[in-house]
Amino acid sequence: MKRHALIAGNWKMNGTHQGAVALATAIAKAPSPLAELALCPPFIHIAAVKWALGHSAVAVGAQDVTFRADGAYTGDISAAMLADAGCKYVIVGHSERREHHKESDQLVASKAAAAIDCGIIPIICVGETLAQREAGQTQQVIETQIAGSVPANATGKNVVIAYEPVWAIGTGLTATNAQIAEVHGQIRGLLEKRLAAGGDLRIIYGGSVKPENASDILLLEDVDGALVGGASLKADSFLAIANSAKV
Ligand code: PEP
Repeated sequence: MKRHALIAGNWKMNGTHQGAVALATAIAKAPSPLAELALCPPFIHIAAVKWALGHSAVAVGAQDVTFRADGAYTGDISAAMLADAGCKYVIVGHSERREHHKESDQLVASKAAAAIDCGIIPIICVGETLAQREAGQTQQVIETQIAGSVPANATGKNVVIAYEPVWAIGTGLTATNAQIAEVHGQIRGLLEKRLAAGGDLRIIYGGSVKPENASDILLLEDVDGALVGGASLKADSFLAIANSAKV
Protein backbone atom coordinates (compact mmCIF):
# COMPACT_ATOMS: atom_id res chain seq x y z
CA MET A 1 0.00 0.00 0.00
CA LYS A 2 1.32 3.43 -0.92
CA ARG A 3 1.36 6.14 1.74
CA HIS A 4 2.33 9.73 0.98
CA ALA A 5 5.90 10.08 2.26
CA LEU A 6 6.78 12.65 4.91
CA ILE A 7 10.24 14.21 4.97
CA ALA A 8 10.61 16.18 8.19
CA GLY A 9 13.61 18.35 9.02
CA ASN A 10 14.64 18.48 12.67
CA TRP A 11 16.73 21.63 12.95
CA LYS A 12 17.46 20.95 16.63
CA MET A 13 19.05 23.92 18.48
CA ASN A 14 20.58 25.53 15.41
CA GLY A 15 20.30 28.77 13.51
CA THR A 16 19.56 32.46 13.81
CA HIS A 17 16.36 34.25 12.86
CA GLN A 18 17.94 35.32 9.57
CA GLY A 19 19.27 31.84 8.82
CA ALA A 20 15.92 30.22 9.59
CA VAL A 21 14.08 32.60 7.25
CA ALA A 22 16.64 32.03 4.48
CA LEU A 23 16.45 28.23 4.78
CA ALA A 24 12.64 28.16 4.88
CA THR A 25 12.45 30.58 1.92
CA ALA A 26 14.79 28.41 -0.17
CA ILE A 27 12.80 25.27 0.63
CA ALA A 28 9.46 26.95 -0.09
CA LYS A 29 10.69 28.05 -3.53
CA ALA A 30 11.66 24.56 -4.67
CA PRO A 31 9.50 22.87 -7.30
CA SER A 32 7.01 20.54 -5.68
CA PRO A 33 8.84 17.45 -4.42
CA LEU A 34 7.54 13.90 -4.36
CA ALA A 35 6.90 13.98 -0.63
CA GLU A 36 5.17 16.10 1.97
CA LEU A 37 7.77 18.33 3.64
CA ALA A 38 7.82 19.62 7.21
CA LEU A 39 10.31 21.90 8.93
CA CYS A 40 10.78 21.69 12.69
CA PRO A 41 12.77 24.75 13.81
CA PRO A 42 13.47 25.74 17.43
CA PHE A 43 10.36 27.24 19.09
CA ILE A 44 11.71 30.76 18.78
CA HIS A 45 11.87 30.55 14.97
CA ILE A 46 8.49 28.90 14.36
CA ALA A 47 6.61 32.13 13.61
CA ALA A 48 9.34 33.41 11.28
CA VAL A 49 9.52 30.08 9.42
CA LYS A 50 5.74 29.97 9.07
CA TRP A 51 5.82 33.50 7.65
CA ALA A 52 8.71 32.67 5.27
CA LEU A 53 6.88 29.59 3.96
CA GLY A 54 3.89 31.77 3.04
CA HIS A 55 1.33 29.82 1.04
CA SER A 56 3.68 26.96 0.13
CA ALA A 57 2.63 23.40 0.97
CA VAL A 58 5.58 22.93 3.33
CA ALA A 59 4.34 22.30 6.88
CA VAL A 60 5.80 23.56 10.15
CA GLY A 61 6.41 21.46 13.24
CA ALA A 62 7.92 21.86 16.70
CA GLN A 63 10.54 19.76 18.42
CA ASP A 64 8.76 19.32 21.74
CA VAL A 65 5.55 20.21 23.62
CA THR A 66 4.30 20.02 27.18
CA PHE A 67 1.39 17.73 28.08
CA ARG A 68 -0.14 20.52 30.18
CA ALA A 69 -2.88 22.79 28.83
CA ASP A 70 -1.89 26.17 30.36
CA GLY A 71 -0.92 27.85 33.59
CA ALA A 72 2.15 28.46 35.75
CA TYR A 73 4.67 26.29 33.92
CA THR A 74 7.60 28.59 33.21
CA GLY A 75 9.36 27.84 29.95
CA ASP A 76 6.81 25.33 28.65
CA ILE A 77 4.93 25.56 25.33
CA SER A 78 1.51 23.93 25.04
CA ALA A 79 -0.01 22.07 22.12
CA ALA A 80 -2.70 24.76 21.82
CA MET A 81 0.05 27.38 21.41
CA LEU A 82 1.70 25.29 18.69
CA ALA A 83 -1.63 24.93 16.90
CA ASP A 84 -2.19 28.67 17.21
CA ALA A 85 1.26 29.25 15.65
CA GLY A 86 0.29 27.08 12.69
CA CYS A 87 2.15 23.87 13.52
CA LYS A 88 0.92 20.68 11.87
CA TYR A 89 3.47 18.37 13.52
CA VAL A 90 5.43 18.06 16.75
CA ILE A 91 8.33 15.71 17.43
CA VAL A 92 7.94 13.89 20.76
CA GLY A 93 10.24 11.42 22.47
CA HIS A 94 13.33 12.26 20.44
CA SER A 95 16.25 10.30 21.90
CA GLU A 96 18.02 13.55 22.77
CA ARG A 97 15.09 14.49 25.01
CA ARG A 98 14.79 10.96 26.38
CA GLU A 99 18.50 11.10 27.24
CA HIS A 100 19.13 14.71 28.33
CA HIS A 101 15.75 15.37 29.92
CA LYS A 102 15.11 11.84 31.18
CA GLU A 103 11.76 11.66 29.36
CA SER A 104 9.90 8.41 30.00
CA ASP A 105 7.58 6.55 27.65
CA GLN A 106 4.67 7.67 29.84
CA LEU A 107 5.64 11.35 29.51
CA VAL A 108 6.09 10.96 25.74
CA ALA A 109 2.62 9.39 25.48
CA SER A 110 1.07 12.26 27.44
CA LYS A 111 2.73 14.82 25.16
CA ALA A 112 1.53 12.93 22.08
CA ALA A 113 -1.99 12.75 23.53
CA ALA A 114 -2.04 16.51 24.19
CA ALA A 115 -0.87 17.19 20.63
CA ILE A 116 -3.60 14.98 19.15
CA ASP A 117 -6.22 16.72 21.29
CA CYS A 118 -5.17 20.02 19.67
CA GLY A 119 -5.20 18.63 16.12
CA ILE A 120 -1.41 18.35 15.85
CA ILE A 121 0.22 15.17 14.55
CA PRO A 122 2.92 13.92 16.93
CA ILE A 123 5.98 12.33 15.35
CA ILE A 124 6.67 9.77 18.07
CA CYS A 125 10.32 8.69 18.13
CA VAL A 126 11.54 5.27 19.24
CA GLY A 127 14.89 3.55 18.87
CA GLU A 128 17.49 1.42 20.57
CA THR A 129 20.97 2.38 21.76
CA LEU A 130 24.06 0.63 20.44
CA ALA A 131 24.45 -1.29 23.72
CA GLN A 132 20.85 -2.51 23.46
CA ARG A 133 21.33 -3.60 19.83
CA GLU A 134 24.56 -5.41 20.64
CA ALA A 135 22.86 -7.16 23.55
CA GLY A 136 20.15 -8.43 21.18
CA GLN A 137 17.46 -6.31 22.87
CA THR A 138 16.29 -4.22 19.91
CA GLN A 139 12.95 -5.99 19.44
CA GLN A 140 12.10 -5.81 23.14
CA VAL A 141 13.12 -2.14 23.43
CA ILE A 142 10.97 -1.18 20.44
CA GLU A 143 8.02 -3.16 21.75
CA THR A 144 8.25 -1.47 25.16
CA GLN A 145 8.65 2.03 23.69
CA ILE A 146 5.77 1.58 21.28
CA ALA A 147 3.50 0.17 23.99
CA GLY A 148 4.36 3.02 26.35
CA SER A 149 4.76 6.03 24.04
CA VAL A 150 1.79 5.71 21.69
CA PRO A 151 -1.23 7.20 23.49
CA ALA A 152 -4.74 5.80 23.74
CA ASN A 153 -6.18 8.50 21.43
CA ALA A 154 -3.82 7.57 18.57
CA THR A 155 -5.17 6.31 15.25
CA GLY A 156 -3.44 5.34 12.02
CA LYS A 157 -3.95 8.87 10.71
CA ASN A 158 -3.24 11.18 13.66
CA VAL A 159 0.27 10.00 14.54
CA VAL A 160 3.53 9.32 12.72
CA ILE A 161 6.12 6.94 14.19
CA ALA A 162 9.82 7.66 13.66
CA TYR A 163 12.25 4.76 14.05
CA GLU A 164 15.57 6.34 14.98
CA PRO A 165 18.30 4.00 16.17
CA VAL A 166 20.12 6.16 18.72
CA TRP A 167 23.53 5.01 17.46
CA ALA A 168 22.73 6.31 13.96
CA ILE A 169 21.71 9.84 14.99
CA GLY A 170 24.28 12.45 14.07
CA THR A 171 27.01 9.82 13.85
CA GLY A 172 27.18 9.27 10.10
CA LEU A 173 26.30 5.61 10.77
CA THR A 174 23.11 4.41 9.10
CA ALA A 175 21.23 1.25 9.93
CA THR A 176 21.40 -1.31 7.12
CA ASN A 177 18.37 -1.68 4.90
CA ALA A 178 17.73 -5.07 6.51
CA GLN A 179 17.82 -3.59 10.03
CA ILE A 180 15.48 -0.77 9.01
CA ALA A 181 13.07 -3.11 7.23
CA GLU A 182 12.97 -5.46 10.21
CA VAL A 183 12.14 -2.78 12.80
CA HIS A 184 9.64 -0.94 10.57
CA GLY A 185 7.89 -4.26 9.91
CA GLN A 186 7.82 -4.95 13.64
CA ILE A 187 6.34 -1.51 14.41
CA ARG A 188 3.68 -1.94 11.73
CA GLY A 189 2.85 -5.36 13.15
CA LEU A 190 2.52 -3.92 16.66
CA LEU A 191 0.36 -0.94 15.67
CA GLU A 192 -1.76 -1.84 12.62
CA LYS A 193 -4.23 -3.84 14.69
CA ARG A 194 -4.05 -1.76 17.86
CA LEU A 195 -4.79 1.46 15.96
CA ALA A 196 -7.06 -0.18 13.39
CA ALA A 197 -4.77 1.70 11.01
CA GLY A 198 -5.99 0.05 7.81
CA GLY A 199 -2.58 0.60 6.21
CA ASP A 200 -2.62 4.38 6.83
CA LEU A 201 0.05 4.57 9.54
CA ARG A 202 3.23 6.36 8.42
CA ILE A 203 6.48 5.02 9.86
CA ILE A 204 9.50 7.14 8.98
CA TYR A 205 13.21 6.45 9.47
CA GLY A 206 15.79 8.77 11.02
CA GLY A 207 19.51 8.43 11.56
CA SER A 208 22.11 10.06 9.28
CA VAL A 209 19.81 10.17 6.26
CA LYS A 210 21.55 12.09 3.47
CA PRO A 211 21.18 12.50 -0.30
CA GLU A 212 23.58 9.57 -0.89
CA ASN A 213 21.54 6.98 1.05
CA ALA A 214 18.02 8.42 0.90
CA SER A 215 16.67 6.67 -2.18
CA ASP A 216 17.66 3.18 -0.98
CA ILE A 217 16.08 3.79 2.44
CA LEU A 218 12.94 5.46 1.11
CA LEU A 219 12.34 2.61 -1.33
CA LEU A 220 11.94 0.08 1.48
CA GLU A 221 8.42 -1.34 1.79
CA ASP A 222 7.53 -0.08 5.26
CA VAL A 223 9.47 3.21 5.16
CA ASP A 224 7.13 6.16 4.63
CA GLY A 225 9.58 9.01 4.84
CA ALA A 226 12.46 10.31 6.90
CA LEU A 227 13.23 12.43 9.94
CA VAL A 228 16.34 14.33 8.95
CA GLY A 229 18.68 16.14 11.33
CA GLY A 230 22.02 17.38 10.02
CA ALA A 231 21.13 17.20 6.33
CA SER A 232 18.01 19.33 6.90
CA LEU A 233 20.11 22.40 7.69
CA LYS A 234 20.97 22.94 4.03
CA ALA A 235 18.21 23.44 1.46
CA ASP A 236 20.09 21.50 -1.24
CA SER A 237 20.59 18.35 0.79
CA PHE A 238 17.09 18.45 2.34
CA LEU A 239 15.45 18.85 -1.07
CA ALA A 240 17.64 16.14 -2.61
CA ILE A 241 16.37 13.77 0.09
CA ALA A 242 12.78 14.90 -0.51
CA ASN A 243 13.14 14.27 -4.22
CA SER A 244 14.34 10.71 -3.57
CA ALA A 245 11.04 9.79 -1.96
CA LYS A 246 8.85 7.17 -3.55
CA VAL A 247 5.45 8.36 -4.72
C1 PEP B 1 17.49 13.38 14.26
O1 PEP B 1 18.00 14.10 15.10
O2 PEP B 1 16.29 13.13 14.33
C2 PEP B 1 18.35 12.83 13.21
C3 PEP B 1 17.90 11.85 12.50
O3 PEP B 1 19.60 13.42 13.07
P1 PEP B 1 20.68 13.09 11.89
O4 PEP B 1 19.93 13.05 10.59
O5 PEP B 1 21.66 14.21 11.97
O6 PEP B 1 21.27 11.76 12.24
